[in-house]
Amino acid sequence: MVVIKSYTEPTRPIRVVILGSTGSIGVQALDIIARNPDRFTVVGLCATGANAQHLAQAALDFDVEVIGVTLGTCAQDVQMHLLAGAQNRGFSQGERRIPELVIGPDAPEQLARMDADIVLNAIAGAAGLQATLATLSVGNKLALANKESLIIGGDLVKNIAFPGQIVPVDSEHSAIAQCLLAGKRSEVRKLIITASGGPFRGKSALELEEVSIADSLAHPTWKMGPLVTINSATLVNKGLEVIEAHLLFDIAFNNIEVTVHPQSVVHSMVEFVDGSTIAQASPPDMRIPIAWGLSAGRDLFRVADVAPACDWKSAATWEFMPLDELVFPAVGLARAAGEAGGTAPAVFNAANESAVAAFLAGEISFTSIVVHIERILQSHLAGSSQDGPGSAYVSGNVLTLEDVLAADSWAREQRLNN
Ligand code: NDP
Repeated sequence: MVVIKSYTEPTRPIRVVILGSTGSIGVQALDIIARNPDRFTVVGLCATGANAQHLAQAALDFDVEVIGVTLGTCAQDVQMHLLAGAQNRGFSQGERRIPELVIGPDAPEQLARMDADIVLNAIAGAAGLQATLATLSVGNKLALANKESLIIGGDLVKNIAFPGQIVPVDSEHSAIAQCLLAGKRSEVRKLIITASGGPFRGKSALELEEVSIADSLAHPTWKMGPLVTINSATLVNKGLEVIEAHLLFDIAFNNIEVTVHPQSVVHSMVEFVDGSTIAQASPPDMRIPIAWGLSAGRDLFRVADVAPACDWKSAATWEFMPLDELVFPAVGLARAAGEAGGTAPAVFNAANESAVAAFLAGEISFTSIVVHIERILQSHLAGSSQDGPGSAYVSGNVLTLEDVLAADSWAREQRLNN
């Protein structure tokens, strides 16, 4: 018998750049990569530099080529930790290289343009926009945790991405992308995005008036950075996710529903025209969607043992209930901003980011966050350019990056009322 040995091309590990490497998503991505060195290698890490030791240590642990630091004031600190860490690890014997340091506000963009198979954008907030645009423009694949960049960039981001170039990391959108594999696009009737309901599920509008910063940061099922945690409590995050789903999957807003699912095990669903609903389920652990996103650096594949699966031997209850849109109006407001398109989502997002910062600084109440977003959004939609740059709404078909940045700045400058 003749044995024919099949030739398999040696596959090198996927080259990964992580923007926002010291945050909740970034750290979990590094955990996956540390456990799968044959699959992934980290070539670049980027953060503000405020967590200098953490950034420098990870850079040495993963032997990265480049570190990005956006705050010039932190660069020296990072450098110092790099040198100290490298000495401890045998730098003087030539066993360690010191990574190149890229410093300044455009460091994320520079790292996004590296020779990489995948860029994980895990920066928090609108600050991630230019890095998303840079990743796509050089043809790198983008594992997108920074939903804000897609939402505020809208068509600017979509128009430069080739099919499959953006892979969602948000657990809901990762779930939808996985469920969509079960049928044809023409067979999709609607997307159902699940929401845990946050720490204030079931509270009345009056009770929300009294909640504290600590209550708002205590998410029942997910451990995340402060901005996304507050966004989950106000349900602004779910509103952003509705816009994100519309942009990622080209589904009309009318066909995107939100359902409250307190256990956060079903991460989202797709209903097909025959009446079938396909769901993706796993215990709440971001490492599953992060690993799936990173795997897009090659062909999408499943990394073994990323996180525990559901335990079917123990009794469990999964609840689903409608969202109380009167107590939590943020999703409806986000739909309005998303339907308007153009600069409206950027204003929605920027008004929210400045209100969340004010809330966390103890300057405004919890309920003032969404009241503020509504006021600024309405003012923008009705505004005229005589009220200053960025004040007037610009529609999607003529939108430029300058329009988005001006609208973002204008919204952040608006007065906050308690
Ligand atoms: P964190 O606040 O925990 O981390 C943010 C990271 O971004 C930090 O590394 C921070 O650096 C870095 N960063 C902030 N601003 C800049 C900047 N201008 N340039 C470079 N780096 C910057 O956020 P999360 O990890 O929770 O969230 C990141 C993104 O992922 C958000 O868009 C969020 O909505 C999304 N997401 C998060 C989930 C989660 O479970 N955490 C779930 C789903 C989506 P430094 O440490 O130096 O400040």
